[in-house]
Amino acid sequence: MAIATINPATGEVLKIFEPLSDAALEASLELAQQTFEQYRHTRFTERSQWLQAAAQILLDRKHEFGELMTLEMGKTLKSAIAEVEKCALVCRYYAENAAQLLADVPVATDASQSFVRYQPLGIVLAVMPWNFPFWQVFRFAAPALMAGNVGLLKHASNVPQSALAIAEVFALAGFPAGAFQTLLIGADRVAPLMADARIKAATLTGSEPAGASLAAAAGQHIKKVVLELGGSDPFIVLPSADLEAAVATAVTARMLNNGQSCIAAKRFILVGEIADVFQAKLLEKFQALKVGDPRLPDTDVGPLATPGILQDLAQQVEAAVQQGAKVLTGGKPLGGVGNFYPPTLLSDIDPQKPIAQEEFFGPVAMVFRVDTLDAAIALANATPFGLGASAWTTDAAEQTRLINELEVGSVFINGMVKSDPRLPFGGIKHSGFGRELSREGILEFVNIKTVWVK
Ligand code: NAP
Repeated sequence: MAIATINPATGEVLKIFEPLSDAALEASLELAQQTFEQYRHTRFTERSQWLQAAAQILLDRKHEFGELMTLEMGKTLKSAIAEVEKCALVCRYYAENAAQLLADVPVATDASQSFVRYQPLGIVLAVMPWNFPFWQVFRFAAPALMAGNVGLLKHASNVPQSALAIAEVFALAGFPAGAFQTLLIGADRVAPLMADARIKAATLTGSEPAGASLAAAAGQHIKKVVLELGGSDPFIVLPSADLEAAVATAVTARMLNNGQSCIAAKRFILVGEIADVFQAKLLEKFQALKVGDPRLPDTDVGPLATPGILQDLAQQVEAAVQQGAKVLTGGKPLGGVGNFYPPTLLSDIDPQKPIAQEEFFGPVAMVFRVDTLDAAIALANATPFGLGASAWTTDAAEQTRLINELEVGSVFINGMVKSDPRLPFGGIKHSGFGRELSREGILEFVNIKTVWVK
C-alpha cells in the first residue's frame, strides 16, 4: 500500500511519500535508543511539563489538525476537532497522574523493606490504524512517555501527514529529539523490526490479521505486546429501557466516525415487545441522516476512508442479503465521486449464518429480535469478538446479569461504549488483549520490579 494522502471525499491523490530507507530506519532506531538512555532518568515533573505543553499545542491547533484528519480519512470535521480535544485530555490526565500511578508501592513481608517499583522498558513500537489518526496514537504515547519509555510510530499508510504532525507536536512540546518518532514504513517492515533487540515491546490497534502477525513476530522474540483489534459490539434493548434515549444513542453509537469505529454498536439485539417500535424509530433516524462532504457542519456521515473499505462493506452487505437478510434502508454504495456508503439497516439475519459473525466497518447496522434476556446474552456472546457492549434496562437484576455475563472488555448500561482516559480500555477473545488508558494502561509498558531488602 502506497504511503499517501488521498482525499476519500474526492479520490484526489494529494501527496505521496517515499518510505524510509533502511539506513534512515536504522538512524531512527539508534536515535531512539540513545534518547532512551537519557530520557529514562528525566523526572516526572519534566515529562509532565512537556506533556502539558503538547496538550496546549493540540488545543491551539485543533482546527488545523482536525482539517488534516478530515482530509486524509474523511471523518466529519466536527468529530475530528473533538478528537484533537480528547487527545489533549489524555495528555493532561497522564501529565497529572503518572507520578502517583507509578509511585513505589510498599508491601509488608518478612523483609525489613519490600516494595514494587515501576521502571520503563525502552523503545515501544506502536502500529496504529487510520480511523482515529490522532486519538489512537496519543492514548498510547501519553502513558508510554510519562513512564519513561520512548515511542516509534508506524501509522496507517493512508494518514502520513497526521503521523508527521503528531511527531511535530511532541517535538514542539519540548520532548527530547528521539523520544517520539514517526517512521514512514509499510506494514511488511513491522515483523522484521520485532527482531531488533532495541525494540522492547509493541502495541497494535487494527485488524485481526495484522494483530496475529505482530504477535507472532513478538512471540518469536519474546516481547511484550498489546493488541486492540476488531469488534462487533452488541447493543441490547430490553422492554424497560428509556426508548427515546436508547434510539438516539443507537444512531450515534453506530454512525460514529462514519461507522468505522471498533467500539461502534454493530448488532442491535431487541428483546420482546420493544422491538417493533425501536426498529421503526431507528429506521426513521437512519433515513434522516445527511451523507456528504465531511467538512460541512450539518453532515452526519462522511465518506469511508478508502475505496477498499467501501468495496469490502458493499460485498459484506451483498453476502448478508444472499444469506437471507432484508435491507430496510441503504444497501448499496452511492456511486459517483468519493467513497460514500449510505446508512444501512439490515434485519432478519439468521444468527447461525457466517455473516452474523463478521464486523461491518461502516454505517451498517444489523437488527436481531429475541424473546428473553437469556437469549439476548447468548446472542451477544455468540461472536469471536469481545470488545464492548451497551445494554439498556432500568431493571437492577437485569443490569447485574448483563454486567456479569457479557463476554466483553467493557459493559455500558444505559449509555454508549466509549473510551475515557480514567477507565481501562480493551477487549477479550479475538478483540485482543492488554489494556490502554487509566492505571492499567500505563502499567502495560513498565517493568514491575519486586524489591526485597533485609
Ligand atoms: P489494519 O489493516 O490492521 O491496519 C492497522 C495498522 O496495522 C496499520 O498501520 C497497518 O499498516 C498495519 N498493518 C497491516 N497489516 C500488518 C501486518 N501484517 N503486520 C504489521 N502491521 C500491519 O486495520 P484497518 O483495517 O486499517 O483498521 C480497522 C480495524 O481496526 C478494524 O477491525 C477495527 O475494529 C480495528 N480497530 C480496533 C480498535 C480497538 O481499540 N480495539 C480501534 C480502532 C480500530 P498499513 O496501513 O501500512 O497497511
